[in-house]
Amino acid sequence: MDKKYYILTFGCQANERDSETLAGILQKTGYVPAAELFDADIILFNTCCIREKAENKVLSQVGELKELKAEKPDLIIGICGCMVQQEKMAEKIHRRAPHVDLIFGTHNLDQLPELIKKLEETKTPQTQILADLQEIKEDLPTVREVPFKARVNITYGCNNFCTYCIVPYVRGREKSREPQYILKEIKDLVADGVVEVMLLGQNVNSYGKTFDPPVTFAHLLEQVNAIEGLKRIRYLTSHPRDFNVDLIKTISGLAKVCPHFHLPLQSGSNKILQKMNRGYTREHYRELVETVREYVPSASITTDIIVGFPGETDEDFQDTIELVKELRFDSAFTFIYSARTGTLAAKMKDQIPLAVKKSRLQQLMQVQNEISLAINSQLEGQVVEVLVDGCSKKDQAILEGRTATNKTVLFAGSKELIGKFVDVEITDPQTWVLKGKLK
Ligand code: SF4
Repeated sequence: MDKKYYILTFGCQANERDSETLAGILQKTGYVPAAELFDADIILFNTCCIREKAENKVLSQVGELKELKAEKPDLIIGICGCMVQQEKMAEKIHRRAPHVDLIFGTHNLDQLPELIKKLEETKTPQTQILADLQEIKEDLPTVREVPFKARVNITYGCNNFCTYCIVPYVRGREKSREPQYILKEIKDLVADGVVEVMLLGQNVNSYGKTFDPPVTFAHLLEQVNAIEGLKRIRYLTSHPRDFNVDLIKTISGLAKVCPHFHLPLQSGSNKILQKMNRGYTREHYRELVETVREYVPSASITTDIIVGFPGETDEDFQDTIELVKELRFDSAFTFIYSARTGTLAAKMKDQIPLAVKKSRLQQLMQVQNEISLAINSQLEGQVVEVLVDGCSKKDQAILEGRTATNKTVLFAGSKELIGKFVDVEITDPQTWVLKGKLK
């Protein structure tokens, strides 16, 4: 009987993409997916360490598998991903969860079959963690979540060192993938039925800077846009420091690049932006938004904002609120600052009390929600093109898809439409979703 695998993925799109590679590697090794965790012969936790809470959650979930491991001694339990890249984390895991068999880092995914083999031969737990990515491994097998959409890595790591963020310490220095590999991967994906790609990197706008001669992200987009059969191109994440007018102009001329700009603001206060080491000012950010709207009038603009960063006064917070009111984002992911051990911000004085952070978050969400609803309401009666992703989690009779502007649309329709582009008339625009009917 085939051995089965189960992967639990925590965190961001980069981790989701790594889990697709892990699934590909396991399937190539002869494993098949398990429907339930308890049926699996190998369970992998692909972890995140952005917040300490996420780590504790993983350790407690791994702890709960102790009994299962006692019942099934051949069960392999592995922990990989960002969490294990932290100093002394492997020792901590061995101490807290001695029933874990494999610990491997974000740069060691390709070694999984070897680690499993060594574990089976020696019956001893295996650990393999590289501090930095030595060389990008091309052509690793992948299993995609859906056949018509794919995530494609274009850079790994990050050089920005925002003072609140652990990513540069765990994912290493930024490395760009050679354009020819990216383009080949996308052409192969399109031949395999993919119509939408998401280009992934911690800061896609600094793509190719280390090449000699450098290749810009704009140039890469032009080449991806030229791939026949591909319909939509998205990218994540943009950094306002490296986002510029040339790139906006290029995007405005590329029909397949979606008119959705996710540009993390993080704070509207120049003092806080500086403390965060973000490398731009509110004035520069405002200019970028104005330029996007000038060249791509149909654009939706979304953002990330952190409230309660150390030293954030009421005035700083009001700067954020004012800028949000002025720039009118389509939506915003809003977060309470939470100190992350190992980052500079965690050591800063003037940490903000939780009650103040919560109250600021509420105020910000209220302002943003009103803006989102007002913007979405303008779509009532309009017909939008939607790529159908699947059924809504809440109601299997309702389909869910996205517009090019990355708005979620819900409507009744047949499952045969999944993976297809359809026109939907918006009948009930809401804050977070647009409800409509098939045209
Ligand atoms: S750009 Fe800043 S927030 Fe984003 S991964 Fe790099 S350090 Fe973290």
